[in-house]
Amino acid sequence: MDAEALYADVFEKYCSHVNPALAKLVSFAGFGVEVKAEGVWIEDHEGRRFLDCLGGYGTFAVGHRHPAVVGAVKDQLDRMGLSGKAFFSKPQADLAARLAELAPGELQFGFFCNSGAEAVEAALKFAKAHTGRSKIVSTKGSFHGKTIGALSVSGREKYRKPYLPLLAGVEFVPYGDIAAADQAIDSQTAAFIAEPIQGEGGIIVPPDGYLLALRRACDRHGALLIMDEVQTGLGRTGHWFGCNHEAVAPDLMTLAKAIGGGVMPLGVTLGTPRIWESVFGDNPLSHTSTFGGNGLACTAGLATLDVIESEGLLAKSERLGRRLLAGLRKVGTDYPELVGQVRGRGLMVGVEFTMDEVGEIVVAQLMKRGVCVAYALNNPRVLRFEPPLIISEAEIDLAVTAVAEAVEETAGLLLELA
Ligand SMILES: *Cc1c(COP(=O)(O)O)cnc(C)c1O
Repeated sequence: MDAEALYADVFEKYCSHVNPALAKLVSFAGFGVEVKAEGVWIEDHEGRRFLDCLGGYGTFAVGHRHPAVVGAVKDQLDRMGLSGKAFFSKPQADLAARLAELAPGELQFGFFCNSGAEAVEAALKFAKAHTGRSKIVSTKGSFHGKTIGALSVSGREKYRKPYLPLLAGVEFVPYGDIAAADQAIDSQTAAFIAEPIQGEGGIIVPPDGYLLALRRACDRHGALLIMDEVQTGLGRTGHWFGCNHEAVAPDLMTLAKAIGGGVMPLGVTLGTPRIWESVFGDNPLSHTSTFGGNGLACTAGLATLDVIESEGLLAKSERLGRRLLAGLRKVGTDYPELVGQVRGRGLMVGVEFTMDEVGEIVVAQLMKRGVCVAYALNNPRVLRFEPPLIISEAEIDLAVTAVAEAVEETAGLLLELA
């Protein structure tokens, strides 16, 4: 099949059998069919290569098909496919122990599942079981997943409205607002859930001291602190975890995206011994997942942690994040009428435009220049840059140059329209 026929075939099947509205959106944005990926590059059906600055919203921390991850998973696949479930699993045991070493505070136990939303569902259930309370406080603009429970604590009306009523007893406060959190957390509160940096909310970095203040407010009322690290976890912000920035230890932590090494789907909910006793003490099967904890996914997880460590990706994320931030800020200074705030931590960087439409045009302009990005789900004005942590300095500079050109051309287009 030639490239054009392949595209037509896939597009038609999306229209007829997957999601017609999505098909329109993807084709309008100028995306083709992905056929191959390696490192920081994705190749489409026409053989065009794109620098992946979206990074699967943080999934590709170690890049696409890192040989160490692929090799480990292939070896495991030669021994077993999915888990037999009744037996012990060594990869699961090893990954749980390894995460306990890396995670802050008393996060000693891990529940394994297959996605971020599932990890959040488990955290919500565990918080309820442990405290015997039902109120959950979350933040406006937050994203925690789209299953009913995770959606119930996600702070964007557009995604919630068709599904109301959702889980009862959820209250939303502005993100980064310590006083509002203080007021909302009370003796009925099971947990406060938040991202250390809001991802889909538009790469919102909270004021320093926010996470610590949340920790204290939860402690005062016997509520649990859930840190949703699905996007910020594993080096994205220059630390193992986003909450390391303030040396805060949550009671429950969720991970997904990067932990599977961009090769296997994997989600994890980490928690303390006391919480595990409450949830599993009387019934070891009180929360389960058929695919969760399978050897292939856990092997990918272990290999990913090894790569992050052996390639020094935490320090790299911090260092290259500064370079990216500085480069993008320079573009902002050159085009203040289009570019607002540029912000982020590590290789989690957002560029906020002054108008909604500008983000969309710049995405298309960047695609034309072989750079793949996307805007934040809950904030279309913000382009997010979450490239693989293995990206090089030269590739960061390439991305910044492309953004400068894309913004320049967008400014020209808008001038013509005006
Ligand atoms: C992506 C994301 C989720 C949901 O993960 P899925 O694997 O898509 O279900 C939850 N929380 C945060 C912070 C995320 O970025």
